[in-house]
Amino acid sequence: MKNVVILGSTGSIGANALLAMKKLGPGWRVLGLTVNSNLLALRRQVREFRPACVAVFDYAAWKEFSADVPRGVRLLPPGVEGLAEMASLAEADIVLSAVTGAVGLAPLLAAIRASKHIALANKEPMIMAGALLMQEARRWQAALIPVDSEPSAIFQCLAGVKPGEYDQAVSRVFLTASGGPFYSVKKSLAAVTPAQALKHPRWNMGPKISVDSATLMNKGLEAIEIQNLFSLPISKIQVLIHPQSVIHSGVEFNDGSVLAQLSLPDMKLPIQYALTWPRRVRSLVHPLDLIKLSRLDFFKPDFHRFPCLELAFCAARKGGLYPAALNAANEVAVQLFLDGALKFTDIPRVVERVLAACGPVSKLTLAGAVEADSWARQKASGISEYVKKR
Ligand code: NDP
Ligand code: MG
Repeated sequence: MKNVVILGSTGSIGANALLAMKKLGPGWRVLGLTVNSNLLALRRQVREFRPACVAVFDYAAWKEFSADVPRGVRLLPPGVEGLAEMASLAEADIVLSAVTGAVGLAPLLAAIRASKHIALANKEPMIMAGALLMQEARRWQAALIPVDSEPSAIFQCLAGVKPGEYDQAVSRVFLTASGGPFYSVKKSLAAVTPAQALKHPRWNMGPKISVDSATLMNKGLEAIEIQNLFSLPISKIQVLIHPQSVIHSGVEFNDGSVLAQLSLPDMKLPIQYALTWPRRVRSLVHPLDLIKLSRLDFFKPDFHRFPCLELAFCAARKGGLYPAALNAANEVAVQLFLDGALKFTDIPRVVERVLAACGPVSKLTLAGAVEADSWARQKASGISEYVKKR
């Protein structure tokens, strides 16, 4: 029996994970679920999956839930404390981290220090402090298995290479991107509305990552995640626009051989693989019909039209606390765009100004990353006020 905890169970990844677990069958038990504030969906999930533990992050929602906790369910404390406790429950075999944003850092650390098998969707902590989290994972012998389709593809291509030898074995990583909803739009993107940005051509995802996919910041964040997960220099990561989203990424080895992972674009597959790893079992995803597909296209990305991609690579090259600042500034700017307070094209402007205000590159520490995160959030809010008025 595998006991699974899902952090962020009401999100797009969380809901797909529950579907995948139903398919996996009776050997798989939902031990714990966490949400921010969506109590309606949480109560539905509790009725269906009967978890032993539940955590609600938002204090007002937690109070409301605590007044009527379903029988047999233990409610953990609100806020990050409950998430971290859930992530390190002694009975948990697997922790799926699928919350959005930097809030996932503390629960991820807790899961690592409890030596869990971690299925990692929540990419933001890996941008903030990925190299340190990998160090901690080695120290505590926690398995960090990527869920995001591109890092998952690379992880699958690297099976058989010793983790300490990735850099020696790999000459290039091909990081594919669908291009998002605006890649072939020729006119200015200044008037793009949140509703338009949320309509992704290939994937159905939560609001933050959908906007990141539209600005191509998501690809930049993935490049940094891959740099950290596999200890590879950023210069080896090449982004390719691949509109069909069938090749989820690939690796060129130093002998010239290229391995890539292909499947129809459906997150249930990488989610399931991260849960069942190192085993492969039948999934809910339809097999690939290569004859019907007939062609695969690739283009160079336009760093000029999508400046977020350039900003992320620039932060990755600088290193230190720059990626943490980039991530925090982006989280603030994306939320303001979703709230209607910033234009789509203001997102890179805010991030660029926050990065320009960063001091000299300082060494990455966990405390430093948390500090850089809160500094960049404050700075981004201030800069947004100024950008809004123009
Ligand atoms: P969603 O917005 O759909 O879901 C987020 C989940 O986290 C919800 O359960 C939400 O609860 C919870 N949550 C949000 N904010 C907080 C908070 N402050 N504290 C605690 N819980 C919180 O996101 P996605 O599922 O799309 O993405 C989750 C993560 O996975 C992100 O980091 C994203 O980058 C990554 N990812 C997602 C992919 C996708 O296909 N969706 C693909 C690859 C990576 P509530 O419902 O109560 O708000
Ligand atoms: Mg992805």
